[in-house]
Amino acid sequence: MDKDKLKSGRKKRDLALKNISYGQDTPKGFFVLFIALYFIASFLVVNASRSSGTIAVFGLPVPLSAFVGIFSSIANICIIFLVVLYSKVGYFTSLGILATQFPMLIITIVKIGNLTSIPGLFGNLVTIIAITIIFVKNNSINKYQQSIRRQAVTDNLTGLPNRFAIDELLSNLVKDTDKITVVSINLHNFKSINETMGRNAGDKVLIELATRWRKIADTWATMTSDYIARIAGDEFLLIIAEYDSQSELDNTIAMYKSELERKMTIDDCDYYLTAYFGYSEFPKDTEDYKVMIAYADAAMQEAKRKDNTNSAVRFLPEHLDVKKNKEIEDKIRTALDTNTVFFYLQPQYDMDKSLRGFEALARMRDSDGAFISPAEFIPIAENTGLIDKIDLRVFTLAVEFLEKLLEKGDNDLVISVNVSVRHLMKNDFLKDIKSIIESHNVPADHLEIEITESIMIDSAEKALQCIQEIKDMGIKIAIDDFGTGYSSLSYLNILPADILKIDKSFIDVMNDSESSKQYVSTIISIGHILNLKVISEGVESPDQIETLKTNNCDFIQGFVWGRPLPPDEAEKLVV
Ligand code: C2E
Ligand code: MG
Ligand code: MG
Repeated sequence: MDKDKLKSGRKKRDLALKNISYGQDTPKGFFVLFIALYFIASFLVVNASRSSGTIAVFGLPVPLSAFVGIFSSIANICIIFLVVLYSKVGYFTSLGILATQFPMLIITIVKIGNLTSIPGLFGNLVTIIAITIIFVKNNSINKYQQSIRRQAVTDNLTGLPNRFAIDELLSNLVKDTDKITVVSINLHNFKSINETMGRNAGDKVLIELATRWRKIADTWATMTSDYIARIAGDEFLLIIAEYDSQSELDNTIAMYKSELERKMTIDDCDYYLTAYFGYSEFPKDTEDYKVMIAYADAAMQEAKRKDNTNSAVRFLPEHLDVKKNKEIEDKIRTALDTNTVFFYLQPQYDMDKSLRGFEALARMRDSDGAFISPAEFIPIAENTGLIDKIDLRVFTLAVEFLEKLLEKGDNDLVISVNVSVRHLMKNDFLKDIKSIIESHNVPADHLEIEITESIMIDSAEKALQCIQEIKDMGIKIAIDDFGTGYSSLSYLNILPADILKIDKSFIDVMNDSESSKQYVSTIISIGHILNLKVISEGVESPDQIETLKTNNCDFIQGFVWGRPLPPDEAEKLVV
């Protein structure tokens, strides 16, 4: 960076830091304006008081001397504004202006004998007393306000700016800086320092780190304009401005990183810290400074996910998915812990619209009450292994619902439950569902488990064995989403299934062309040849019902006859 740029950068940084600690100054332009207004008003006071002329106001002649009071009030107001808005500078400027008028007033009274200047002399004296009182009072209020403000924008432990300060700083910086980088820093394994050495040691480590980093920023060791802030616990934000190239940026981040990693000795104990670094850049990644912080966080989370403490990760849009997925994962965990995963039931009908049963579908709500789509949370639950708990929870709810239906009277309704491939293959699964069924004393042949064919790809033998055991318990087996993914006639043949569910994607296009219709018709025929009943999923229109009827489909599940319903509403469908 050249010298001039460095100088202006320093000035800008000092001002920015002053603004966040003390608040923004009133613009200097107004200072000059108030002084100019004061002199104009004073000039008019003198001239109006000497004039014997009149001006017409609403048709009436008013002597000019009647305006003396108005002009002198305007002059006083200007003086008061100067003192209130510009404290010390405003007060001493005002004092100077008023004091220089004293000799002139005294000369006119004593030497020239013009006694009309006596009120002016008193007026001046009263104004000086008034502005002195205002100044003293205002000064103590300002000091108090500044100390409150400093506390609000400062992290108590380290004395670094905090999150509020950073928001304000960035909102100002983006107005007149061409490039800004926000680096989100999260210490690696800091929790273990607190746990093993105690909170006090942890605090000392944070203070030492803040001191090191502040020194780099304040001494311009990096030659870029840097601001370091503590956001929470072991989270810091580094803001870098006034750099020209990526290599300057890399160099700055590297300096903060190496200061962090330099051995730290506290109370005779050596610490070697590392951290995850993620950054985003304005305006390349976003022009919104709040989003910039979120992006830097997402990049840092990516570093964390990959356990990468070696290099700073630059933000990429795909990092957002990871962050969002983590948020959903947390929501699933909370919902499972608080037992708030619930279920809806979608009715299934035969072609004459008599109820066959229901499919139990997992549901979850956000903390603000909004539904989170299963399309969103089921894949995440599958990837994180949480699906097992969801499946079991829905299975339990379904069994309780069935128990309730059976208490109402005999029926042959079937409740089907989705079970993830992974879950099915686990050793505990059969044991768990057995105990749920036994503890509720419901007949197993009213229950159905929906599986997808993909189960056969990974481990056909183990899968077949599990499915057979489920069948032996009396539970029905449905093959879900048939036609998507890996469909194999040979597997279909050996699977001891009861029912085939044609995926919605085939039903959607079924009436668009003769070949699509033929395709669905063929699946239904194959199902029947293999001795399976066939159910079409996602049926949305009466036309589709008609086509399915002509092709001998056995059951229908779709919005056309019923959307997924809460259990009490589903219960009303059972007569
Ligand atoms: P799925 O098992 O194929 O369930 C059928 C999905 O199709 C349900 O979506 C249902 O609401 C939707 N659907 C049914 N008829 C129509 C229709 O006419 N139009 C449209 N647009 N959609 C229709 P949902 O509830 O969003 O569930 C999505 C998937 O999530 C399910 O597909 C299933 O694979 C999975 N899932 C849901 N609950 C559970 C669960 O408890 N455990 C497991 N492992 N997976 C679950
Ligand atoms: Mg299903
Ligand atoms: Mg399905």
